Amino acid sequence: MELKEYWSDKHHSRDFKLIRIGFVAVRFRWLVTLLIIGIPGWVAMDWWLLDSAHFKLLWKVRLMTGVMLTPLLPLSYLCKLNRHWMVMSLFALLFILLSFNLVSLWSFRDVAVMPAGYVAFPYFLLALLAVLPLPIRSGLRVAVTVIVAVLATDYWLDSHTLDNGALFDRVWLLLCFSLAMLWVQTGQLRMLMDLYRESTRDPLTGLMNRRLFMPQLAAVRHASTDEQPYTLMLFDLDKFKRINDQHGHLMGDEVLASVATTLVDILGSEAMVARYGGEEFMILLPGTRLEQGVRQAETLRLAVESQPVKSPLDDSEVMVTISAGVVEGHRDSDMTELLSQVDKALYEAKSQGRNCVVAHEPLITGATSD
Ligand code: GH3
Ligand code: MG
Ligand code: MG
Repeated sequence: MELKEYWSDKHHSRDFKLIRIGFVAVRFRWLVTLLIIGIPGWVAMDWWLLDSAHFKLLWKVRLMTGVMLTPLLPLSYLCKLNRHWMVMSLFALLFILLSFNLVSLWSFRDVAVMPAGYVAFPYFLLALLAVLPLPIRSGLRVAVTVIVAVLATDYWLDSHTLDNGALFDRVWLLLCFSLAMLWVQTGQLRMLMDLYRESTRDPLTGLMNRRLFMPQLAAVRHASTDEQPYTLMLFDLDKFKRINDQHGHLMGDEVLASVATTLVDILGSEAMVARYGGEEFMILLPGTRLEQGVRQAETLRLAVESQPVKSPLDDSEVMVTISAGVVEGHRDSDMTELLSQVDKALYEAKSQGRNCVVAHEPLITGATSD
């Protein structure tokens, strides 16, 4: 995982963003549920520890906080869909809890020794927020909000003065808890990213696997227009079994990795390249018409053909060729139909003698090298 991915979600892929937000939304919901039960539930402790006048004031504050937190539960379902909802919900949660902190500390303004639970509330809050897998930038925003609100509360309650010793203690402890929160949050983000990569990337070629490719295809289809269709290409290595049989599976693996590198190097970052099956690669070109797609497939075919693959064991080399089927897709295209069409076009390319490109309807055949 790169440093910039720890820093901000701007550097995460669209798919991972959605997965992370879904994960944050579930944890957020549990956190809110815990607080809705825990904050009003703490009245039992107050009843035991506080005098009756104080208790009568605080149980209302606690109940009110529980009621104010409740709308965040349905909101957490919307968070799954949109990052802005997530940010809004998180700051609404902070606002409610920091207001609770302010009111409860204010209620103790004439008391010499406050119960420990009330003094520790902001630290408890930072510890709870560590369960969210946030990037550092978002975690810092949360920490700064809590620190500024807590210091402003102290300043206001201490008649606009801050005792230097007490201030130092407070800031020092808040910073320690914030650092611990950021550390746990980024650790969770890293774990989530590692699991995500393992489940969506092919370890041999580093390409996305079918699990990740299918939702990407659905998203591109959804975003396409009549003027901006998309093309889908399915490549299959020719007589690959023979390479395995004659040169061994290690060489076969090397060929797969080398072809994947060639495809990715030639296509720009707009293209989505996936390892679709054992020796099949699926490529999605957004905003591309069939003719452009066929030309691109032809370029890739020629590049693979002209690049012999070196054996990882000795100096020997093998020549590799690929065949491709190409199809143009639209917003109203049926996915199953589209995949079947591209598969048929590839089958046609194999029937025509391999090392060629065939487009699905109208049939356009690229040049073969032999
Ligand atoms: P065609 O030109 O008709 O596609 O013939 P082919 O030999 O390429 O097709 P076939 O489907 O018969 O063979 C595919 C082979 O790909 C079979 C399988 O052993 C091999 N294969 C699949 N995945 C891997 C892999 O990860 N590594 C290696 N070395 N071989 C693999
Ligand atoms: Mg093959
Ligand atoms: Mg095959």
